[in-house]
Amino acid sequence: MEKNAKIYVAGHRGMVGSALVRRLNQLGYRNIITRSSSELDLRNQQQVFAFFEAEKPDYVFLSAAKVGGINANNIYRADFLYDNLMIESNTIHAAYVNKVKKLLFLGSSCIYPRMAPQPLKESYLLTGTLEYTNEPYAIAKIAGIKLCENYRLQYGCNFISVMPTNLYGPNDNYDLAKSHVLPALLRKIHTAKIKNIPIVEVWGSGTPLREFLHVDDLSDACLFLMEHYNERELVNIGTGTDLPIKDLALLIMQVAKYKGEIKFDSTKPDGTPRKLMDVTKLMTLGWKPKISLEEGIRMVYSEVEQMKFSD
Ligand code: GDP
Repeated sequence: MEKNAKIYVAGHRGMVGSALVRRLNQLGYRNIITRSSSELDLRNQQQVFAFFEAEKPDYVFLSAAKVGGINANNIYRADFLYDNLMIESNTIHAAYVNKVKKLLFLGSSCIYPRMAPQPLKESYLLTGTLEYTNEPYAIAKIAGIKLCENYRLQYGCNFISVMPTNLYGPNDNYDLAKSHVLPALLRKIHTAKIKNIPIVEVWGSGTPLREFLHVDDLSDACLFLMEHYNERELVNIGTGTDLPIKDLALLIMQVAKYKGEIKFDSTKPDGTPRKLMDVTKLMTLGWKPKISLEEGIRMVYSEVEQMKFSD
């Protein structure tokens, strides 16, 4: 990407989009365009087509999506399917019509079958049944991957798809009913610490394994792939290591210096038992993460300490 190329970051207020804008700015890209959802509703085809026709971006990072943790995915099932399908279809088609040079689409590790062998290779896509709690989101993301693949095959568009593992970092969602596990535990443990509450509730059994990547590493990987990858197959982005939810809770307790105990709430779902990414492809291309989980949690915890929560 040329430094003065027009780059549209869709979803720039979200955790991923804002990290992409930060990284692009750091690297000296000067022509980044963004729109908030009130200025441009990506679910609205007319608005999206008019925006692309007027702006004619050279490059697009499609990081806009309706996202959330296990609870939100399971409750707002129709919204996760509809909103994400509309956002992707409108943006990818508009990118084709307006001759965008390259588009990077962000998916998720939940696109892989629930009981796929671990670690998850890119080739396991569509080889089995999905995890039901996030099936609508996964189906929408699989449709996005297939849009990129087939606009490439039919029209020669240079559209690529990347699959990040579980992410965390600045601008994460801390709403306990909708968030992912890492921000939820940071908030719960921090609140328990400052209010001297002896027990913190952790959903499920604590045994599911999850892999976590700091969003600044993700944005770095996305820029690397925008520069160096032009193939049809998706690319996993992760660290290649995971840990049980219980150990994540213990690590956050250690960083927060919280001395209480954990209680597991078995009425809440565990979700997929494990979803560890096989990152051989990305590492072979020449990229690896820089921020360790402990370091990343320390960075984010220092932000959480400044936040005001209502609980
Ligand atoms: P997932 O990776 O799609 O399953 O989404 P989450 O990040 O929401 O949940 C990951 C795992 O953490 C699941 O096994 C949850 O049950 C567990 N978990 C434990 N405590 C919490 C919590 O307070 N919030 C959330 N979202 N998940 C939790």
